[in-house]
Amino acid sequence: MEWEIVIGLEVHVQLSTESKLFSGASTRFGAAPNTQACAVDLAMPGTLPVPNEQAFRYAIMFGLAMNAEISKRSVFERKNYFYPDLPKGYQTTQLEQPIVGAGEVEIHLEDGGSKKVRLHHAHLEEDAGKSLHEDFHGMSGIDLNRAGTPLIEIVSEPDMRSAAEAVAYLRKIHSIVTYLGISDGDMSQGSLRCDANVSVRLKGEEKLGTRTELKNINSFRFVERAIKVEAERQIDILEDGGSIEQETRLYDADKNETRSMRSKEVANDYRYFPCPDLLPVVLTEEYIEQLRKELPELPDTKAERFQSEFNLSAYDADQLTQDRDSAEYFETVCKSCGEPKLAANWITGELAALLNRKEISIAESPVSATQLAGLITRIKDNTISSKIAKQVFEAICEGEGSADDIIEKRGLKQVSDTGAIEKMVDEVIAASDAQVDNYRRADESKRPKMMGYFVGQIMKASKGQANPQMINKILKEKLDTLL
Ligand code: ADP
Ligand code: MG
Repeated sequence: MEWEIVIGLEVHVQLSTESKLFSGASTRFGAAPNTQACAVDLAMPGTLPVPNEQAFRYAIMFGLAMNAEISKRSVFERKNYFYPDLPKGYQTTQLEQPIVGAGEVEIHLEDGGSKKVRLHHAHLEEDAGKSLHEDFHGMSGIDLNRAGTPLIEIVSEPDMRSAAEAVAYLRKIHSIVTYLGISDGDMSQGSLRCDANVSVRLKGEEKLGTRTELKNINSFRFVERAIKVEAERQIDILEDGGSIEQETRLYDADKNETRSMRSKEVANDYRYFPCPDLLPVVLTEEYIEQLRKELPELPDTKAERFQSEFNLSAYDADQLTQDRDSAEYFETVCKSCGEPKLAANWITGELAALLNRKEISIAESPVSATQLAGLITRIKDNTISSKIAKQVFEAICEGEGSADDIIEKRGLKQVSDTGAIEKMVDEVIAASDAQVDNYRRADESKRPKMMGYFVGQIMKASKGQANPQMINKILKEKLDTLL
């Protein structure tokens, strides 16, 4: 039987405002527990919330970037439930009239394809506090610093059909919010969190299957793995004639499995009602249009510009615009060396591998954009071959200085001196009687391939420094005189 996976994501993004959604308390990460929660955040009697305009600006910017409708009138509601990290007894959120309505976004897949994912809506809400389980034997601690931090919850339509598509969508959201500068997008600190709704159905079936909601997925890699194992679990159950229960499940990354947390709650359970402490927020057209004008260049537009301005392939342009830092790095390298294609190759190849290995971001790269540009300049002007360039690159990583310093210090300059190369060619030919004999007797069409042996020997003799084009030319001439 052929199964189709259906996924809808709910992504929570912490907005990087200075203060909370309804109070002046600081949102800074890492403060001592319970030093940044004020009376408003805890809804002490007699306090009143005041909406933070910056949070609205950020939410609207996000909506505009998602080609979504912006609501001229939005309303806050109370979602009532009890949990130790929610001292108010309700979360202030939006339900009926969220700030951002329907929209859509294009995602790019690894095989080069792309597709549109529809946004159902995005709403503003406050974050809860945090329960701490690790440092307290048999007890839990509560840190309320996070209570009241502004979030947007971004709800997609169930448009994704594989774990890879879900990851591509999440990456796109990540790249949009960081380009906009409305969130630091740091998943490890919980600034961007994702719940995945997963169901399966037989291919061709129209009706959606029963879904489960996966919580606690805190990295791109885990999103992919959690969806895969959950879909497998559901398929196994259905193939055995069972049925799926609609429930909330927890992803356990250590065991790579999902397990039941609770049966799915429905909106009614929360007794939602409009918050009597907050007026509806009404926006003017001019306010929204002003924000639209101020939007920075977004990833898709930047990728198109990279294709037209630098002649990059769609794939390279997409790779280089996924995050703002990479795009900036690329543009700096290009400006300084004027070689977009080489710059793109080095950044998506050698540099990406290095950053991956060291598990660091491009902003922390040990090779600066200027240093890479210096290296590329020396490849382009034939001072070094691309093979030697890899050696120089490693040395730059190790902090040995600029490409020029390293080439000079290590004597790596490519040998392009005709006399010197001729001498090496002669020596290798003289020491390779058998190979020369084979070459002579071989069919004309086989000869180019047979030159490889000689080129290899000459390269070795020159420690990789002889100019490959020149070797080929001189070698061919010399061998041909022996025919
Ligand atoms: P709730 O009201 O319980 O939060 P929603 O209808 O708002 O449920 O959907 C929440 C998320 O679940 C959305 O991202 C939506 O796309 C997704 N979703 C809904 N039904 C399914 C399904 N059958 N399979 C996969 N995802 C689904
Ligand atoms: Mg929901």
